[in-house]
Order: sequence, then structure tokens, then C-alpha cells
Amino acid sequence: MSELREDPLTGSLVILAPARARRPDTHRDRSGPCPFCPGNEELTPPEVTRTGAGAPNTPGWRVRAVPNLYPIVGDGFDGAHEVVVLSPSHENSFGRLSDDRAVEVFTVLRDRCAFHLAAGFVHAQPFVNSGRAAGASIEHPHAQVVALPLVPPAVSRALERFAAAGRDLVATASNDALDGTHGVLRGDALAWCPPASRSPYEVLIAHLASGPRFDRAPDDEIATVARATRHVLAAVAGVLDDPPYNVVVHTAPAGTDDGFHWYVRIVPRVSVVAGFEEGTGMFVNTMPPELAATALREALPDAPR
Ligand SMILES: [Zn+2]
Repeated sequence: MSELREDPLTGSLVILAPARARRPDTHRDRSGPCPFCPGNEELTPPEVTRTGAGAPNTPGWRVRAVPNLYPIVGDGFDGAHEVVVLSPSHENSFGRLSDDRAVEVFTVLRDRCAFHLAAGFVHAQPFVNSGRAAGASIEHPHAQVVALPLVPPAVSRALERFAAAGRDLVATASNDALDGTHGVLRGDALAWCPPASRSPYEVLIAHLASGPRFDRAPDDEIATVARATRHVLAAVAGVLDDPPYNVVVHTAPAGTDDGFHWYVRIVPRVSVVAGFEEGTGMFVNTMPPELAATALREALPDAPR
């Protein structure tokens, strides 16, 4: 039973989801079978989609999407929560997928978001938690989609900032970054370390031509951003020696036709949010993004110089 509560002092929205406390932690306890490995399909709820071969809930898949057994939402606070298993391999994080498989994963994520928005949800949030310190309780690399009946506060704020600026802030940021010292990857998709990165080696990735919504992005746009994300994650893994990380797709809610530009944010979890951040809402970053960008460029073969 999940429940949404608003804190009267801060306005923070909190989802109380006590059932999630029962989820297994395969990082800590490796004794049980991995529910996301091929052959263990019966350990997850029945799948909602797959790519590859085979009958539903049997091996043969390349990417497999299933409802989350321990959802954040639903049963009290309406929503949907799904897991997208990145590949049959227990070892291959997103950065270790081939380009084609990375594109397939992003395509499944887009299609699941589109499905939930078509079903009437207001916002669909795709993300990857990789590593225990980044929030993953199951080791086998996977992405997630949470569909919500409301526009989340961070998304509202982003839309308001776009509206107030009266221009495409993502396009402006990417142009500024690539003119200066923050660029990481240049092409149809641009990657850069934002000058005001909140944490070390934060990277944003955007396609030049994107509209407001990930769920409506055409195949070629999805493919370009998926490949760029994979390359940047491989560079981050090399530079930081396989850190835990989050990948977050920032996208606009249902009904938004302009006034945003969807993009991807990679946040390596190499620092902690502590008392100062808690008290002030300000972040302290010990790694200048200019230096982070230089290190990532050197780890990428086709980076801008
Ligand atoms: Zn596994």
C-alpha cells in the first residue's frame, strides 16, 4: 500500500511505500538465484514486453520488461512501476552493451513510457540505478520506469524555468558547453559536463533536434542518444573505475507539446549529500567540471578537441 504525503514545512512530496522494505538485496545476499537471469523468469511477475526470441516468461529474450515486484506506486497511490532488464548478462552494465543493444534498451524504455502515458498517467520517469550506492537492490543491470498520476515537482520547476527564459535552455547549455571547455562528445548528440555540476563527473546528453518528450522521440533520435549515453558511461567507468551511477531521462509530462527539450543526465555516485546540502539546498562539488570534461574527452575516441 503506497501513500503520497506532502511535508507542510518544505512542500516536499514523499511516497510512503512500506512494501518496498521487503525487497531482496542481491548485492548483499548472493545466496539466492538472480531473478533477472535467463532461466529464472518465473521469479518475476509475468513480462509485459521483450525483444529477441522465445515465448513469454522463458529464455531467448535480449531485453525484458516486467512489473516491479516491490513497486514504489500502486495500491493506494496510483501508478505503475516496471523493470527493464538490460540484457541476459548478469555482468553487462549499460556501458558494456553493444551499440545495438543500448539502442534496443532505450527503445523499450521509450515504448513503455508511451504505453503508460497512453493509459492515462501524467508523467513517466525512466532511470537506471547501477550499483548499491546508487539505489540498485538487484545486481543484474536493469532500468526502471515509474508512471505517476501527477507532474512531479522537479519536472514542474524545469518547465517553469523554460517558460520564464522563453528559450530552449538545453540547446543553449549544450551550445555554451561545446564552445568552451565543458564538451565531452560532439555529434548529433552532444554530451557535456554542466558548468554547475552538482557532483563530480556529472554529464548531460542531448540530441540537437529533440522535442519535449522522450516518449515521442523518433527512432533515430533515440538511437543517437542511446549510443552517446553508452559511450559516455563507458568513459565514466574507465575514469572512475566502475563507480555506482544513476542515469536519468529528463522529459516533459503528457500534454506538453513544446517548452522543453528531453535529455539524459548521468550522475556518478562518488560523493554524498550531507548536512550542508540538507540545510541549504546548495551543493558542494570538489571536481571542477572543466577537468572532468577533459578526463572524459581523453577516454573517448571521437570527442571534440
Ligand atoms: Zn542475473
